[in-house]
Amino acid sequence: MRDTSNPLSARKSVLTSAVSSVTPLGQLLRNVSDNLPHNYSRRRALQLLMGSACTCCASVHANQLAYDLDVTEIARGTWAIHGRTEYFTLQNGGNIVNVSFIEVPDGVVVIDTGPSRRYGEALLHLIEKTVPGKPILRVYNTHHHPDHIFGNQVFERGSLAAPQQVIDNIIAEADGFSDNLYRLIGDWMRGTTVVAPGVALESDFEEVGGRKFSLFYLSGHTSSDLAIRDDETGVLFTGDLAFYNRAPTTPSADIDGWLESLKTLASLDRELILPGHGLRDERGGSLEQTADYINWLEESLSEAASLGFTMNEAMAQPIPDRFTSLDEVQTEYERSVVHLYLGLEDNLLPAVTVD
Ligand SMILES: [Zn+2]
Repeated sequence: MRDTSNPLSARKSVLTSAVSSVTPLGQLLRNVSDNLPHNYSRRRALQLLMGSACTCCASVHANQLAYDLDVTEIARGTWAIHGRTEYFTLQNGGNIVNVSFIEVPDGVVVIDTGPSRRYGEALLHLIEKTVPGKPILRVYNTHHHPDHIFGNQVFERGSLAAPQQVIDNIIAEADGFSDNLYRLIGDWMRGTTVVAPGVALESDFEEVGGRKFSLFYLSGHTSSDLAIRDDETGVLFTGDLAFYNRAPTTPSADIDGWLESLKTLASLDRELILPGHGLRDERGGSLEQTADYINWLEESLSEAASLGFTMNEAMAQPIPDRFTSLDEVQTEYERSVVHLYLGLEDNLLPAVTVD
């Protein structure tokens, strides 16, 4: 016999039967409202039904969420997980970033940690499978953007390292990024919290587990961007200072500083570049393409602002043929107008004094 004196037990009992078979919504609603105490309205019954049904769907969905991380050995003992060259979606779960790990004589070094706790766990699993039994000695964050840092919490805080400005940026902005990512990728983010690195980098290089890594303190994609070179293999990890065949993102950009940093990166000895997004690059094409794109972005938006175009008119400008094959270019261009246009207008247009 059903105890209907308690609305919650009535709800549980009714909903268990209501969602256990395929029944039209109207019938489900009648079942629910017929079995609830008299002071429950049909609207409340519908809320209960829809709420419970969504909870069921969400938990089924959550069980299906698993990152399928593909690993490629890009140099001896150096593995890259190439994310999709897309924007964050519910489908990709934020697996849109290049994350890498390197076997050094006494352990493993990791560069960036991906967009969520769940990604971090998949990354740990992949490292253990690829390089079994080796301790993770160092985890670098190249910058504070969310696709690069939200796997941090699965690693020892004392192994996480970044320049002080990156740490400060994480502390200042990562909570906001987290809220936004929950909106963009939903349940993939479940259980993700912000963890800032415990080690502030200062020196030009580190010896980690018997391997020397050169560290380059740059900026422009954000106010602090770390590039890392494995001096043994010559692989240069640029973070998001370089994109390859994927349009660069600009939410925190200073274009002139970014162009300077790209010049510095181009001058470095190296064997191979792993950009923050896009495929590995043997010849430096990622540096040239990124510089070309952000230079065009600044020039064309400056011209539009000087001509008095509105933001919408600037967004409607054509993208040159040489960039139209870049993934996400139209979306990123429009986002860049939002990020950059008001600042350019402030700099370029004369101030009008109203007496
Ligand atoms: Zn990124």
